[in-house]
This record gives sequence, structure tokens and C-alpha cells, in this order.
Amino acid sequence: MAEIERHRFDVLVVGAGGAGLRAAIAAHDAGAKVGIVCKSLLGKAHTVMAEGGIAAAMANVWKEDNWQVHFRDTMRGGKMLNHWRMAQLHAQEAPDRVRELEEWGALFDRTPDGLISQRDFGGHRYARLAHVGDRTGLELIRTLQQRAVALGIEVFMECTITKLVKGDGRIAGAFGYWRESGRFIAFDAPSVVLATGGIGKSYKVTSNSWEYTGDGHALALEAGASLVNMEFVQFHPTGMVWPPSVKGILVTESVRGDGGVLRNSEGRRFMFDYIPEFFKAETADSEDEADRWYEDKTNNRRPPELLPRDEVARAINAEVKAGRGSPHGGVFLDIASRRSPEYVRRRLPSMYHQFKELADVDITAEPMEVGPTCHYVMGGVAVDPDTGESAVQGLYAAGEVAGGMHGANRLGGNSLSDLLVFGRRTGLNAAYAAARLRRRPEVGDDDIRAASEHALAPFGIEGGENPYAVQQDLQEVMHNLVGIIRTADEMEQALTDLAGLWERITRLSVEGHRQYNPGWHLALDLHNMLRVSECIARAALERTESRGGHTRDDYPATDDSWGRVNLHCRIDGDGVGITPEPLPQMPDELRELFN
Ligand SMILES: Cc1cc2nc3c(=O)[nH]c(=O)nc-3n(C[C@H](O)[C@H](O)[C@H](O)COP(=O)(O)OP(=O)(O)OC[C@H]3O[C@@H](n4cnc5c(N)ncnc54)[C@H](O)[C@@H]3O)c2cc1C
Repeated sequence: MAEIERHRFDVLVVGAGGAGLRAAIAAHDAGAKVGIVCKSLLGKAHTVMAEGGIAAAMANVWKEDNWQVHFRDTMRGGKMLNHWRMAQLHAQEAPDRVRELEEWGALFDRTPDGLISQRDFGGHRYARLAHVGDRTGLELIRTLQQRAVALGIEVFMECTITKLVKGDGRIAGAFGYWRESGRFIAFDAPSVVLATGGIGKSYKVTSNSWEYTGDGHALALEAGASLVNMEFVQFHPTGMVWPPSVKGILVTESVRGDGGVLRNSEGRRFMFDYIPEFFKAETADSEDEADRWYEDKTNNRRPPELLPRDEVARAINAEVKAGRGSPHGGVFLDIASRRSPEYVRRRLPSMYHQFKELADVDITAEPMEVGPTCHYVMGGVAVDPDTGESAVQGLYAAGEVAGGMHGANRLGGNSLSDLLVFGRRTGLNAAYAAARLRRRPEVGDDDIRAASEHALAPFGIEGGENPYAVQQDLQEVMHNLVGIIRTADEMEQALTDLAGLWERITRLSVEGHRQYNPGWHLALDLHNMLRVSECIARAALERTESRGGHTRDDYPATDDSWGRVNLHCRIDGDGVGITPEPLPQMPDELRELFN
């Protein structure tokens, strides 16, 4: 076998979004030799697209805010299926992580008295999102990236990891290829941190970019880790619906946080019709009360437009189904009639440009048309909350690829804070573990040979399946049969269809050579997309209730007995098996916060 390029690190971080960069910085600070691999250009990860802000109970705007309220909001938003310890650490540590970003050079918007400004978002009791206009992710990435580069951390960009390698029963490193040349590359590293983000590209309508093919989820699963909560997929209520070429692109929740309201084709502010029992006590039930909340948050209840995302997405879906939708199959989001053009342009500059340039709509003068879009996966690698380590020794996960933190539904703003809190924790622990190791396992030649053969297989088949056609069919299956509203019959059909797609991907063929060949790259990604899709469909079929980002038309109620169970996916033969496991027990002092 020809020699391939090899590198040796203590900690290898796969992914250069917020979680990966924060993990790499922490591991470096703990004394480890660190490498970062990312499949797009550095700085182009999903995190850069984040708009609204970073949730952290800094109490800059509302002095009543503290970590306990943030913890409670997060657990309630997650319908109590979150890992309590992750939600606790997250709420406690997020403020320090934001202040640290500022020390490293991030420039946040300010309050009139010079503190970091915080804005309202759905499910958060107080204005809590530290932000930079509606371009917060850009500032977060810019700051972390500059710091990582200044620290001299080695970055391998446009390089995709396709396989995790184990030795002596634990992680030994990883194998991948350079996207430009198609050449292979291997990394020896006793600690590998997965920070690969989400899975949105398995769905037809999504706010996610081409990178979100569930690679880290599938890599971890196939290395022996379990994935938890995979049935919970977040459909963000407001994506663009028109024109078709931009369908799914996100319309930030900040529009509603800053006063925007949802109306149907009859002009009715319909969210008042969809306030669930669970949130009745804290949600305004008249327009007057809802509007007073923007001025005085302590004495008034929240507008229903700021209910958690799952509630709003379901309400929009119902309005459209009832024939009260907008001309292009969404509903109207109106900020123009409620805020001045100057306010809109200052607070929401990206949204203003997005609609002007992509849809020829001036959001300071007319309403936007919006509808649900697949946005975020709550499910991910099951990890130890304190260290980020998975069931596979030496394999860690942080950020969207990790599961547990957000339970059945993530609150807006809680992802960026999650990346910072758990990116740091995971990086530190990955470095400590590598330093403690007496004997490092090596990536063996046999492993490299097997991984190379697997990667090259599509070149050996002539006239087989086209990867783009298979991807399109997969997206149709997930969109139509395992989407926002689910039934047993449809999911059983989805599993049959997925089995057919598994069979088709054994016959994928690609043309041309290995140098920058997107068809080949997609052929490799498809394996991961199918793995995560199967996990979602199987877990969703198993959970016979509706909760958070999982709505069953045949089981519309939330069932208390399911409130004590997380579903775990593990490799079982050639497929995926599901095991229910009891929720970790919350200590009494935290439980009391819900009384
Ligand atoms: C439009 C939009 C707006 C959002 N707004 C907000 C917001 O305001 N607040 C909030 O909290 N959340 C927001 N979110 C969610 C949040 O941005 C993401 O959940 C978060 O950025 C994920 O970060 P991450 O570090 O886990 O992954 P990412 O930032 O996506 O990074 C993943 C990295 O992994 C790399 N990668 C993937 N697979 C491989 C592989 N096989 N080999 C090598 N590298 C690989 C990618 O190249 C990339 O570098 C938003 C999301 C979107 C799409």
C-alpha cells in the first residue's frame, strides 16, 4: 500500500465551528499538541451563520435573572428530557464564557450604561441573549478563530474525516481525505473530539448548509458510542418560503424577540389560539398584555409568539393546513407595522438585506412570508456531562453533535452558549486524558487499508446509482414521512424506503478522478446521512407520544411515562437498535426550582 500522509497529535478536534475551536483552545491551554480538521474553509462553519445571540444569565438587562432561572427555562423548554447536569453546568458557566469572549476581543452590542446588551428570545424568561446585531455567530467565530491561529494550533481545512480508528479497545486516531486533491491522510491521536455539528441535509427544507450530513453522529455510532434523543429534530418556525431557491433559509427569532408578530391570511394574530396548558400561566392571552410585555417584563406575561420553537412551528403548520396560509404556503411575519424602519434596519440588518436581496421584499414596509424549516438536531452522542467523553474511551463530543443538553427541544441562543461551555470542558478533559495515558495506541496499516478501500469503492462501479439522485430521494423520504408531524404508518414506510436506499448506496458510482470531485464527496457523506436518518426514524417510531421536537398525529398527547425515558441508538448487526434508558435523577435542590 502506498505511503500516506500522517500526523500525530495528543488531541485531534474534528470540526472548526464554535465547539471545535473552543475545545481546541482549551486543549492547547492544558498543554496538549492539538490539530483541528474541518471539511470546509476555516471560518465557514455553521456557527458563523448564527444570528440572534448567545444565551447567558448575565443579568445585564434584568437583574432578576440568574443561572437558576436559565436552568429552569432550559429544562422546561426541553420538556424535562434534558440531562439535568448538562443544563446546570450550561446555565452556571455561560456568563463566564461570554465575558471571556469579550476579553479575547469580541465586540458585543451594549446597553445604555455600557454593559453587554441582551435580547429577548422564545422560552427565556428574561432578555438573555448577548448579541452583535443579528450577526452574533460571525463575531464568535472571528474571535475564536483569531485566538486559535494566534496560539499556533495546526488547522487542516477542506479535509474530511471518514473513519475513526480504534486500538487496544479505545480511540487511536482518525482517517480522512483532502477534498482538493482526494489524497488520504491519517491522524494518530489518543483523544478525538467530535465537533461536527448537525444533520439537516437529510431533509429537503432546511436552514443548514451542505456540511450538515451527520458525519460525527455516524462516526461515533460506528465506533461504538450511543446516540441519545435522536427522535427530536427542531423545525424552526420561521424559514423563508419564497422564492423556491431560498426556501428554508432562516429568519431569525430576533424578529419576534424585537416585536414582530405572526398573522394568518385573515390578518389574525393566531398564536393566541395555540397556547398550551403547560405555558398558560406565563403567556399573555390578549394583544394588549402581549404588547405591554415589551415595555415591562416583570409585570406582564410573554407574547405567545415567543413560546418555544416547537409550539410555534406546530401552530404555523396547523394554520397552513387549515387553509389560512400565505400565498406561498407559509404565514406572515410582520415587524413593519410595529417598529420604525430605522429600528428594524439597526436591530436586524442581515434580515433586512436577506429579504431585499433574495426575495425583493422590504421588511420595513411589508410582512415576510415564513414557514417551518429543519434547523437543529437535539439528538447526538451520549456523553458524560462533566467531561464530554462518550462510551468509547478517548472519544469526546461537543456542540450540536453531542446529545442530552437540550432534551426534546432547544431554546434559541442555547446552542452558542452550549458550544462555549462544553467545547471548553471537552477540550480540557480530552487533553488531561491524553496526558495521563501510559501507552498510546497506533493507527494500524490494516485500518488505513480498510478505510481507503471503503472510500474508493464508488470509483470501482460503472453505471451504478447516482449520489445526487439518492440524496434527493432520501430528503423526500425524511421530509414527507419523518417530518414535523409523524404517524406510525408513515415511519414504517420510511424505514422500508431507507432500507431500499441502503441497498442503493452499495451500488453508488462516481465519474472522473479523485481531485475535487463533489460527486465522490457526496457518495461518502450519504452513508452518514442514511445512518442518522435511520436513527431518527427508529427512535421516532418507538416514542409513542408527542413532546418537543417530536409530534405524533397518532399519539398527540404528552405521556408522563415517556417523561422518564431517553431513547439510545446503538449499532445492532447491520442496522440500528433502540434501547430505552431511565433519565438521570435530578437532585432535590434542583427539583425544587420547579415547584
Ligand atoms: C442560520 C442559523 C442561525 C442560527 N442562529 C443561532 C443563534 O442565534 N443562537 C444559537 O445559539 N444558535 C443558533 N443556531 C444554531 C447554531 O449556530 C449551531 O447549532 C452551532 O453553530 C453548531 O456549532 P458546532 O460547533 O456544533 O458546529 P458547526 O459550527 O457547524 O461546525 C461544524 C464543523 O465540523 C466540520 N465537519 C463536519 N463534518 C466533518 C468531517 N467529516 N470531517 C471534518 N470536518 C467536519 C465542518 O466543516 C465545521 O467546521 C443557528 C443555526 C443556523 C443554521
